[in-house]
Amino acid sequence: MNPGARLVLLGRQGSGKGTQCTRLSRHYVVPHISTGDILRAAVRDGTEFGKRAQEIMDAGNLVSDDVMVGILDERLDRDDTRGRGFILDGFPRTVAQAEALDRMTTPRGIDVAINLDLPRDEALHRLLARLVCADCGTNYSTAAPPRYGMTCDNCGGDVVHREDDTEGAIIRRLDLYEEETAPLISWFEGRGMLEVIDANGHPDEVTARLITAIDRRRGA
Ligand code: AMP
Repeated sequence: MNPGARLVLLGRQGSGKGTQCTRLSRHYVVPHISTGDILRAAVRDGTEFGKRAQEIMDAGNLVSDDVMVGILDERLDRDDTRGRGFILDGFPRTVAQAEALDRMTTPRGIDVAINLDLPRDEALHRLLARLVCADCGTNYSTAAPPRYGMTCDNCGGDVVHREDDTEGAIIRRLDLYEEETAPLISWFEGRGMLEVIDANGHPDEVTARLITAIDRRRGA
């Protein structure tokens, strides 16, 4: 078996992508690289770049391909990713980024790109019911709330309904995802690199499906 795992995860907001990336990162002992998290860290640091990134993110637009490819190139060049592999979350977002990823990971490439598939109606339903810990980010829902009121089971923080989880904002985010990601799914599919995994069901079942498909691709 090849050491490490080199994975791309695609999936609508609400598909459970963040939860599954965390689990896969532990299972394969590889870093979970979220370009959204990298940008949010730059915003928190208050750098010039962070200020520009914040404006773009607040407007719901994409940071330019050149900038994102530069960030990822630098991240993929670190010892942990070179030695063990990676799970990419939020990259690529455009076909130009997918082509750049192909160049950056030559000759071995990635093992598989996974589309964590959840129908749009189900995603909308999950996002409207979503509750999140303001401190540690643990997700809950109105159907499966924390054990004691609105206090996080994990860290004791306040569990809240996110301000941007209004129906209008959720629909805008889902529309944008459709526009961005449909061409990427065809791009990976056309190269025989795509695996579609059903995101319905208990998170443990989804993790098991993912690991089975990834191991099959990696010849484990
Ligand atoms: P996310 O947390 O993945 O939803 O990303 C939050 C925001 O960061 C996005 O709405 C974009 O503005 C920006 N962003 C994250 N990843 C990328 C990317 N690969 N290309 C362009 N913009 C990105």
